[in-house]
Amino acid sequence: MTQKKNIKNIPLDQLAVEFSEMGLEGYRARQVRQWLYQKDAGDFSDMTNISKVFREKLDEVYEIPRFKKLIEQTSNDGTKKFLFEMGDGNKIESVWIPAENRRTLCVSTQVGCGMACDFCLTGELGLKRNLSVYEIVEQIAAVKRALPEDESITNLVFMGMGEPLANPKSLYPALNILLDPECFNFSRHHVTVSTSGLAPEIEKFGDKTPVKLAISLNATTDEVRDVVMPINKKYNIERLLEACKNMKLHKRNAITFEYVMLHGVNDTLDDAKRLVRILSKLKAKVNLLPFNEYPESPYKRPDDEWVHKFQKILLNAGYIAVVRKSRGRDILGACGQLATHEKALVGEAKSFKTERFKIAV
Ligand code: SF4
Repeated sequence: MTQKKNIKNIPLDQLAVEFSEMGLEGYRARQVRQWLYQKDAGDFSDMTNISKVFREKLDEVYEIPRFKKLIEQTSNDGTKKFLFEMGDGNKIESVWIPAENRRTLCVSTQVGCGMACDFCLTGELGLKRNLSVYEIVEQIAAVKRALPEDESITNLVFMGMGEPLANPKSLYPALNILLDPECFNFSRHHVTVSTSGLAPEIEKFGDKTPVKLAISLNATTDEVRDVVMPINKKYNIERLLEACKNMKLHKRNAITFEYVMLHGVNDTLDDAKRLVRILSKLKAKVNLLPFNEYPESPYKRPDDEWVHKFQKILLNAGYIAVVRKSRGRDILGACGQLATHEKALVGEAKSFKTERFKIAV
């Protein structure tokens, strides 16, 4: 028996061609997609506006896979962290963060990550593989399924495991599905992709998608950034800023610069002044994320007073600079980047609590 194809990994135009070749109307592809994403159909027999004969044909050729939810943890503040198993046994995390006026899901794009940022546990794992379109989109579907009926997802941040711009082949088609009014219908203003600074990909970003971009800057000199974010050795701060200037910026979008504050490393007041200069030619805003210490962490968290001094320099220069609150401190391992990896997954759920950073949205 030939293996069934994962229908959620087939682009709409290709699906229409395949349907035509099967003797079925091509326009049915859109109908099927609506069933898959708007109504989260798990079986072709659910697709009641499609003839029974057609449904049976589809069922012979395609499968509708779903993630297996391995763990769901709920933080004291309501944040939920999910661990999913994919078809090949690899595991990824997604985190749902409820706030007063929004419900944000933090989405992964790779198993592990090859960027080796010094403060990130995912980076220690190295890159195992890219996620497929289905595996990115299914995180949203699977979390929606797991949430109580009166809950929802209003915002998406691509700040989970992996470097999204290192997986453009899956990222952009997945974003198209998530924005499509006939599928998930997210507003482009409510979707943010975060990058460690892949300059050539940043330059293409605005042409590929209208969603927002966030850049993890985390240092104001190449000397420090080379250590904190090794990608800087390939694309230094100057190259990164050039890419930002070259990027097409959609109406009402600004680039968000994420800045994890590591006390004594990147948070001097000179750093704040340099940051002002660095961002001076860009439509930018800044998210400050004071580092969350853990028992053996090589970095220290600045105290609140210091954070506000740093912030004030940015505010006085006219920037929007927000100090982000940590969320899900008791369950998470992330600062926009999740930390669970093989080591943390071995054994019991308690090792799943491994944490370095806390998410801040
Ligand atoms: S911070 Fe992000 S880009 Fe850097 S290693 Fe972690 S997951 Fe990868």
